[in-house]
Amino acid sequence: DGLSEAEAALIARRQKALGPAYRLFYEQPLHPVRGEGVWLWDKGGKRYLDAYNNVVSVGHCHPHVTAAIAAQAGVLNTHTRYLHDAPVDYAERLLATMPDALGHVMFTCTGSEANDLALRITRAHLGRQGIIATRNAYHGVTEAVSELSPSLGDYVPRGARVRLIDAPDGGPDQGARMAADLARAIAEMRAGGTEPAAFICDTVFSSDGLFPDPAGFLAPAVELIRAEGGIFIADEVQPGFARTGDAFWGFQRHGVVPDMVTMGKPMGNGFPVSGVAMRPELVQDFGEKARYFNTFGGNPVACAAGMAVLDVIEDEGLQENSRVVGGWLKAGLQDLAEGREDFGNLRGCGLFVAADFTRDGQPDGARARQVVNHMRQNGVLISATGPAGNMLKIRPPLVMRQAEAQMLLDAVAAALAAG
Ligand code: PMP
Repeated sequence: DGLSEAEAALIARRQKALGPAYRLFYEQPLHPVRGEGVWLWDKGGKRYLDAYNNVVSVGHCHPHVTAAIAAQAGVLNTHTRYLHDAPVDYAERLLATMPDALGHVMFTCTGSEANDLALRITRAHLGRQGIIATRNAYHGVTEAVSELSPSLGDYVPRGARVRLIDAPDGGPDQGARMAADLARAIAEMRAGGTEPAAFICDTVFSSDGLFPDPAGFLAPAVELIRAEGGIFIADEVQPGFARTGDAFWGFQRHGVVPDMVTMGKPMGNGFPVSGVAMRPELVQDFGEKARYFNTFGGNPVACAAGMAVLDVIEDEGLQENSRVVGGWLKAGLQDLAEGREDFGNLRGCGLFVAADFTRDGQPDGARARQVVNHMRQNGVLISATGPAGNMLKIRPPLVMRQAEAQMLLDAVAAALAAG
């Protein structure tokens, strides 16, 4: 194959109209026109196994979700200052998935906005400014949360109020090490005159390279930030909504109860809906003084999408499917890595798996890119992540079954064999 003339023209128009800040995946960009379950089809009718998309977590164009969206859109869609059942029903159902301590949820439209709101509420409540995040974290695009998103690159201003600590690395003492790093970051912050308000992390550390194990290692860091008068914010945009297979929320794997939980991506299976859950006392004074209004956040259509996603996760047993198929996939990749020096260090939880390419002990981002592009040509979509881009990132919709996971393994094997 290769780029058609029409696609080359579309890329040129795209660059002219959208400007220089956007990037397309793959050496040969993909042009999908239709999706269903774990599958995408391009304009020429070629089918691709989507093993990367965690937004359409219950499957592309799931009929229960699209029907719920269409039905509500055909009846009423308005802003959130009228009384309506939908945000209340949905909030109650979401909160029922969480520990009792988290008593309110507020709705936003993107993960960035959820994190941004979490920071505002935290800083307002504590009267403190300092935030600690991990070294290659991603928490979003607003001016405030891009300061906590070093994975965006060096140009992003870190901000005087932000300190970074090393992400976990899979080592045996990482819980104690993270807490020690956090203590150091807090001391440095205080030396500069800033009081710590929060430690925020993605509870599976996706953009740091996926470090979920051993479950429980987060507890000492959470304890420490509280002892220092700050709070713990769990960014569940990636691990939330049953992705990890072990639990509905990533923080549950660590046996901790966050003070705030932010969520997004799979929440509406592609319809923009996100939110922040929190301990009620945190938002009390903010609520009295600041007044919150979000035009689209938690509108009736967004809530219908969110409700339908929860239905599907339950009805189709997707948490269990993620655990079983994800575990099987990880074991299959482990077999492929057996005896290889260039590929290994398998890690994962549920249908979220990562593995590293190295060369002479150094991260090999070029090889990971080659494999990702080889697989794309072969009809299987994944990506690479981590500070050096050498970590394969495999994260299919939660409806992937074993036969499809086998196709994915075959594509990895073929890319490995292609040298
Ligand atoms: N937090 C995490 C952990 C994310 O992965 C992302 C998106 N990749 C965000 C926040 C931001 O979400 P959004 O793109 O919806 O603003």
